[in-house]
Order: sequence, then structure tokens, then C-alpha cells
Amino acid sequence: MDDKVKIRCPGCTRVFREKAGRVRDGVQLNCSNCNKLVTLNRDTEDPFIRRALKAAKEIRTLEEAQVHAAVYSGAASRTKSA
Ligand SMILES: [Zn+2]
Repeated sequence: MDDKVKIRCPGCTRVFREKAGRVRDGVQLNCSNCNKLVTLNRDTEDPFIRRALKAAKEIRTLEEAQVHAAVYSGAASRTKSA
């Protein structure tokens, strides 16, 4: 499953990807293209940042649901080696 979120840099307007777990309100990330510090703020006027935060939240919610499903099915208690 793809757990990365696309973020459009307000500096160079190029898109970079960051793990959904790191994309949260108030977090600062460096653009991988121009190295500018991008502040993720859900109250921003930048619709791309708002969309990225929303997408990240959806992915985290989905992941949490999968963890719960794994616990209930007993998959999480299985050992790694066969
Ligand atoms: Zn940039």
C-alpha cells in the first residue's frame, strides 16, 4: 500500500512525497527539490497543503483500521519465522 502523500512545494511548485505519518498539522518539512522549509498548516490558504494534510489523515485512518483488523484476526500475534 502506498503510504506517501504528495505535497506541492509553495517555493518551487514542484511536487515531492512524504510519508503520511509525518504529514501532520503544524509539521515542517524540507522540499526535496529546493530544500525550502514547508510548514504544513491546515488553515493555510494553499489548497495543495490542505489537500495533502487531508490525504495523510485518510491514509492514517485506513492504516489504523488495518491494524485493528489484524489484531482481531490474530495475524498480529503470529511470529515472523515459519
Ligand atoms: Zn521546493
